[in-house]
Amino acid sequence: MNSDIHNLLPGVKTNVSLAPHTTFNIGGAARYFFIAKNIKDIIEAVSVAKKCKMPFFVLAGGSNVLISDKGFPGLVIKIQATSYKLQATRLYAEAGVSMETLVREIGKKGLAGLEWAGGLPGSVGGAVRGNAGAFGGEIKDSVISVAALDEKGNVKTLSKKQCMFSYRDSFFKKKNWIVLSATFQLQKGNKKKIQREAKEHIAYRKEKHPLEYPNAGSVFINCDFRKFSKELREKLKDVVKTDPFPIVPTAYLISEAGLKGLRIGMAQVSEKHPNYVVNLGAARAKDVMRLIEKVKKEIKKKFSVALEQEIELVS
Ligand SMILES: Cc1cc2nc3c(=O)[nH]c(=O)nc-3n(C[C@H](O)[C@H](O)[C@H](O)COP(=O)(O)OP(=O)(O)OC[C@H]3O[C@@H](n4cnc5c(N)ncnc54)[C@H](O)[C@@H]3O)c2cc1C
Repeated sequence: MNSDIHNLLPGVKTNVSLAPHTTFNIGGAARYFFIAKNIKDIIEAVSVAKKCKMPFFVLAGGSNVLISDKGFPGLVIKIQATSYKLQATRLYAEAGVSMETLVREIGKKGLAGLEWAGGLPGSVGGAVRGNAGAFGGEIKDSVISVAALDEKGNVKTLSKKQCMFSYRDSFFKKKNWIVLSATFQLQKGNKKKIQREAKEHIAYRKEKHPLEYPNAGSVFINCDFRKFSKELREKLKDVVKTDPFPIVPTAYLISEAGLKGLRIGMAQVSEKHPNYVVNLGAARAKDVMRLIEKVKKEIKKKFSVALEQEIELVS
């Protein structure tokens, strides 16, 4: 199998540490690691993994994953397909384009629609798959269509409706399809205003989020206000936010449960933003997982809600 993959997928590397490919800077090595520089490479790598009957995993910006200390026992396909094209107000972007690049480049052209994503780490593919959102906006707001690779290796183009976007979810996430590219509809706007808004979001994140430590963003999704008991809804009504439906910030619940600063090994519930776990130095995935389980248990005990994990464990 080893020699097969090297013959079938020139450029594939063996035993590559995944920690540097994640914003958490945690995790063991990939047995095989391949950088897909364009859409053809992605399709080819998936086809080879299937031929070799090897598990595979798609990694892009690495900003929403926790890689196991043991690493990944198959092929990691790192998406670096980074072409994009603007035609009037329509933007086509391959899955590996960073959201940072898009926000910056369309801002320069005075095109509105992605200002909410100022400071959002990760790629177009990751954002589409998870319907990333912040500051009242979501990727779905601008998507027209998405090209993706289905489970049989066929390329399909899905309309926005077919993408079935919902809160941090999409058809691609449910079905495990690979996003190859996306087309967005933007609007002409005031360049200075658009750039200012994106910059304000970046500054807000710097101030409120523990970006001084490696992390993977919010560990849990926010909690649906409607899921709390009547008694708790009354108590929590002043902290409810719209995101895009009424939610109770998970950070608030973690803070109220007295879990800020809780530490296992070098992993810590952030003091600055308690829905973040930060890597204080050489944290192991095992420590992060134990911390996550502890937080889930305490929140369940105190608020009778089950926290839903946003970051994905890869093993
Ligand atoms: C500091 C910080 C702040 C954050 N703030 C926010 C926020 O405000 N809002 C928000 O929604 N998220 C936020 N996140 C989470 C993260 O940025 C998003 O989920 C992002 O969209 C993930 O993209 P990625 O390219 O890094 O994906 P990765 O971490 O590489 O992958 C995440 C998942 O997506 C899959 N994936 C990646 N690319 C593709 C593809 N092309 N096709 C199919 N599957 C794919 C992977 O297999 C994996 O399952 C934050 C993260 C950090 C570190």
